[in-house]
Amino acid sequence: MKRGISSGVPKERVKKVIRVYLCVILILLGYYLLVTNIDIGVNCIFRRLTGLKCPGCGSTRAVLCILRGDWAGSFKQNLMLIPELTFVGWAAVYSTVNFLKTGRGGLNVKPDRAAYVFLAVLLIWWVVRNLI
Ligand SMILES: [Zn+2]
Repeated sequence: MKRGISSGVPKERVKKVIRVYLCVILILLGYYLLVTNIDIGVNCIFRRLTGLKCPGCGSTRAVLCILRGDWAGSFKQNLMLIPELTFVGWAAVYSTVNFLKTGRGGLNVKPDRAAYVFLAVLLIWWVVRNLI
């Protein structure tokens, strides 16, 4: 197995990570182009069935607001977008580092207190956003 000169991480793992990130970027870019040019977005199944908003409802509109520099509009669309993106970003970085070190995919970590607090806040947000 070939290893990188400076890091000791096998090159195959680095190449796989780059391919995965490129695929994610291409999918996000394609979704962005669909949403902004054809006005096609993902309809929330939970909202369609219940009429209530889920924690993710408004995320696409919130991201588009951020891309336009409209932070107030983003918070109005989905107040929890930034914490949700932070959590997803942390999970992506953690799993990437874990994969580069061990060669095993996934998070491979037990949820800690912070994850339970985040989940509790998300559940409270889910209820509150449907009451206000
Ligand atoms: Zn939803």
